Amino acid sequence: MNQQVTIENGRLIVPNRPIIPFIEGDGVGKEIWKAARTIFDKAIEKAYQGQRSIEWQEVFAGEKSYKLNGSWLPEETMNAFKQYLVGIKGPLTTAVGGGLRSLNVALRQELDLYVCLRPVRWFKGVESPIKHPEKVSITIFRENTEDIYAGIEWLQGTPEAEKFYQFLSQQMGVNKVRFPKTSSYGVKPVSIEGSERLIRAAIKYALHHKLPSVTLVHKGNIMKFTEGGFKLWGYALAEKEFGDAVFTMNQYMEIQKNEGKAAAQQALQNAKSASKLIINDVICDAFLQNTLLKPEDYSVVATLNLNGDYVSDQLAAMVGGIGIAPGANINYITGHAIFEATHGTAPDIAGKNQANPSSLLLSGVMMFDYLGWYEVGELITQAMQKLFQEGKATIDLARFMQNGTPLSTTEFTQAVIDNL
Ligand code: NAD
Repeated sequence: MNQQVTIENGRLIVPNRPIIPFIEGDGVGKEIWKAARTIFDKAIEKAYQGQRSIEWQEVFAGEKSYKLNGSWLPEETMNAFKQYLVGIKGPLTTAVGGGLRSLNVALRQELDLYVCLRPVRWFKGVESPIKHPEKVSITIFRENTEDIYAGIEWLQGTPEAEKFYQFLSQQMGVNKVRFPKTSSYGVKPVSIEGSERLIRAAIKYALHHKLPSVTLVHKGNIMKFTEGGFKLWGYALAEKEFGDAVFTMNQYMEIQKNEGKAAAQQALQNAKSASKLIINDVICDAFLQNTLLKPEDYSVVATLNLNGDYVSDQLAAMVGGIGIAPGANINYITGHAIFEATHGTAPDIAGKNQANPSSLLLSGVMMFDYLGWYEVGELITQAMQKLFQEGKATIDLARFMQNGTPLSTTEFTQAVIDNL
């Protein structure tokens, strides 16, 4: 029997007992992985009564790997993720001095995981700094491979920075650099393909989940060709590839120009009545304000790498969820996906039975949704919701809850299992 998740014509084929590689992670990784795995297995059993199960396969990375075999990221680990397509990981210590700059970045690059997916929602009972956190339900598609994050930069005062400036001034006629001798320089590559594949994934996701809109978040008013390109290419792609399933604000502007505002409003209204997916855009700074004032206006968001970094953390903080936010890095074309806890190794509480496994648990929920095992994610989410509502959580969350009852990692795990 085939135990590998595979992909055919862009669709995942998931056997009933797939092999899923996992990296336990460093620091609190051991504790939260043990908690999460126990809950995953119980939830699968409850949902499918033995018809389905996961064959977990441990692979190594980070400190544990270094101690075992002298390598921060062994070839076998990379190969396992390549072969089995879908995997999950806890937090990893970043090697200090030598080694890889970041293991997470290495995994992302090697597998070309171009989407960083961050769903943001509120759990009743969790303390939030805003008045209506229940209005926040936003899924962020952050581009993961381009932008200023490409790491193409030169430090001020180096021959490379000088050479780059000479190129700019002499060959490109650039005379706008205010302090050329003491400037560091960075390059921001944003491509049509890179933007299109990210936006395509966001639109497909929104259509699949019957969500109302995809918002392209950008800073195209200032960076016209990079961020502005992202917006233009996004609208063009939506109209070209998704035709009648979508209505774009680009089309709205066209109608307004030719037939007036009332006609454009009518067309938008008709599109909404026909349950078409609305594609719109917003400048990033306005987006950050709007999400505080009217978060219900946003559903799926597609954005470039740097904006996505800021946006993810602000939105997670708005629902009090920075410590429990889940995440995934995905290549929807090859099917490769790694689901991960978004926090670090928390060395200050490692080994103390205090760590909150929720980020890893919710990443697991995302993984089960990705595999099409929706029932498992539903069971886990509901069990967690029930506990939070009763004020039961690990200490990091419980201390901010009204009448919160702090539970240890193992107590919280058992409580989730009891509520499945
Ligand atoms: P951190 O996220 O590990 O810790 C920040 C604070 O949050 C600490 O007070 C910690 O106790 C708390 N915290 C984090 N996770 C928690 C959990 N599950 N339950 C309860 N409390 C939790 O960030 P840091 O201290 O800046 O980084 C520590 C190490 O983790 C570094 O080596 C860093 O490079 C690495 N790191 C890894 C990842 C990753 O693998 N995705 C992400 C960030 C940091």
